[in-house]
Amino acid sequence: MTESKEIRYTFCAHCNKEVQVLVSRGTPRNGQANLQETDEVVCLDFGDRCDGEICPLSRFRPVVMGVRLARSGLREEWTTVRAECEGCGLVSDLKVLDREHAFCSLCGTTNTWMILEFDDRGRVAVTGRRSR
Ligand SMILES: [Zn+2]
Repeated sequence: MTESKEIRYTFCAHCNKEVQVLVSRGTPRNGQANLQETDEVVCLDFGDRCDGEICPLSRFRPVVMGVRLARSGLREEWTTVRAECEGCGLVSDLKVLDREHAFCSLCGTTNTWMILEFDDRGRVAVTGRRSR
Protein backbone atom coordinates (compact mmCIF):
# COMPACT_ATOMS: atom_id res chain seq x y z
CA MET A 1 0.00 0.00 0.00
CA THR A 2 1.43 3.34 -0.94
CA GLU A 3 0.66 6.31 1.21
CA SER A 4 0.78 9.66 -0.44
CA LYS A 5 1.37 12.86 1.43
CA GLU A 6 0.89 16.37 0.28
CA ILE A 7 1.16 19.83 1.73
CA ARG A 8 -2.00 21.85 1.53
CA TYR A 9 -3.20 25.16 2.83
CA THR A 10 -6.48 25.36 4.62
CA PHE A 11 -8.31 27.89 6.72
CA CYS A 12 -8.33 27.21 10.44
CA ALA A 13 -11.44 28.62 12.08
CA HIS A 14 -9.84 28.67 15.50
CA CYS A 15 -6.61 30.43 14.56
CA ASN A 16 -8.54 32.54 12.06
CA LYS A 17 -5.84 32.22 9.44
CA GLU A 18 -4.53 30.00 6.69
CA VAL A 19 -2.47 27.16 8.04
CA GLN A 20 -0.18 24.67 6.39
CA VAL A 21 -1.24 21.06 6.73
CA LEU A 22 0.21 17.77 5.66
CA VAL A 23 -2.45 15.45 4.36
CA SER A 24 -1.69 11.75 4.49
CA ARG A 25 -3.98 9.96 2.15
CA GLY A 26 -5.72 6.91 3.37
CA THR A 27 -6.66 4.19 0.96
CA PRO A 28 -8.38 5.92 -1.93
CA ARG A 29 -11.75 4.43 -2.62
CA ASN A 30 -12.99 6.30 -5.59
CA GLY A 31 -10.17 8.54 -6.70
CA GLN A 32 -11.85 11.71 -5.55
CA ALA A 33 -9.73 14.59 -4.42
CA ASN A 34 -11.87 15.36 -1.41
CA LEU A 35 -10.78 14.57 2.09
CA GLN A 36 -11.84 11.18 3.31
CA GLU A 37 -12.41 9.72 6.71
CA THR A 38 -9.17 7.80 6.51
CA ASP A 39 -7.08 10.84 5.68
CA GLU A 40 -5.00 12.22 8.48
CA VAL A 41 -4.28 15.90 8.65
CA VAL A 42 -1.21 17.17 10.45
CA CYS A 43 -1.23 20.90 11.07
CA LEU A 44 2.23 22.40 10.72
CA ASP A 45 1.12 25.58 12.44
CA PHE A 46 0.17 23.89 15.68
CA GLY A 47 1.23 26.07 18.57
CA ASP A 48 0.44 27.91 21.75
CA ARG A 49 -2.64 29.46 20.31
CA CYS A 50 -4.27 26.10 19.73
CA ASP A 51 -6.01 26.25 23.08
CA GLY A 52 -9.62 25.73 22.16
CA GLU A 53 -11.82 22.86 23.15
CA ILE A 54 -11.85 21.35 19.70
CA CYS A 55 -9.37 21.74 16.88
CA PRO A 56 -11.41 22.43 13.75
CA LEU A 57 -8.96 20.51 11.59
CA SER A 58 -8.93 17.26 13.51
CA ARG A 59 -12.22 17.62 15.40
CA PHE A 60 -10.38 16.42 18.46
CA ARG A 61 -8.82 18.28 21.31
CA PRO A 62 -5.87 20.37 20.11
CA VAL A 63 -3.37 18.12 21.85
CA VAL A 64 -4.22 15.37 19.38
CA MET A 65 -2.88 17.54 16.61
CA GLY A 66 0.22 18.18 18.68
CA VAL A 67 0.78 14.45 19.02
CA ARG A 68 0.40 13.99 15.29
CA LEU A 69 2.91 16.72 14.61
CA ALA A 70 5.37 15.38 17.15
CA ARG A 71 5.03 11.88 15.74
CA SER A 72 5.45 13.07 12.19
CA GLY A 73 8.89 14.49 12.91
CA LEU A 74 8.06 17.42 10.68
CA ARG A 75 8.99 20.04 13.21
CA GLU A 76 12.59 20.38 14.26
CA GLU A 77 12.18 23.07 16.85
CA TRP A 78 10.27 22.02 19.92
CA THR A 79 10.06 23.33 23.39
CA THR A 80 11.12 20.37 25.47
CA VAL A 81 10.97 19.45 29.09
CA ARG A 82 13.36 16.98 30.66
CA ALA A 83 11.35 14.46 32.58
CA GLU A 84 10.75 10.79 33.09
CA CYS A 85 8.38 9.26 30.59
CA GLU A 86 5.41 7.35 31.92
CA GLY A 87 5.57 5.00 28.99
CA CYS A 88 9.20 3.86 28.84
CA GLY A 89 10.46 5.10 32.17
CA LEU A 90 13.43 6.84 30.63
CA VAL A 91 14.41 10.41 31.32
CA SER A 92 14.55 12.32 28.08
CA ASP A 93 13.55 15.58 26.48
CA LEU A 94 9.82 15.37 26.06
CA LYS A 95 8.28 17.56 23.39
CA VAL A 96 5.91 20.02 24.98
CA LEU A 97 2.55 19.88 23.24
CA ASP A 98 0.71 22.23 25.51
CA ARG A 99 0.59 23.21 29.15
CA GLU A 100 -0.50 19.73 30.17
CA HIS A 101 0.91 17.30 27.65
CA ALA A 102 4.37 16.30 26.49
CA PHE A 103 5.34 13.69 23.92
CA CYS A 104 8.10 11.12 24.28
CA SER A 105 9.91 10.57 20.99
CA LEU A 106 11.48 7.39 22.27
CA CYS A 107 8.31 5.38 22.77
CA GLY A 108 5.56 7.64 21.45
CA THR A 109 3.77 8.06 24.75
CA THR A 110 1.87 11.22 25.49
CA ASN A 111 2.56 12.22 29.08
CA THR A 112 0.80 14.71 31.20
CA TRP A 113 3.30 16.99 32.85
CA MET A 114 3.56 19.88 35.23
CA ILE A 115 6.30 21.91 36.79
CA LEU A 116 6.74 21.71 40.52
CA GLU A 117 8.37 24.79 41.95
CA PHE A 118 10.51 24.61 45.03
CA ASP A 119 11.58 27.49 47.18
CA ASP A 120 15.08 26.19 47.64
CA ARG A 121 16.15 24.34 44.54
CA GLY A 122 14.31 25.58 41.53
CA ARG A 123 11.88 23.58 39.51
CA VAL A 124 11.35 20.00 38.48
CA ALA A 125 9.09 18.59 35.83
CA VAL A 126 6.90 15.69 36.82
CA THR A 127 4.91 13.49 34.51
CA GLY A 128 1.69 11.67 35.09
CA ARG A 129 -0.55 9.13 33.54
CA ARG A 130 -1.94 9.87 30.18
CA SER A 131 -5.34 11.42 30.44
CA ARG A 132 -7.96 10.60 27.92
ZN1 LIG B 1 8.76 7.16 26.56
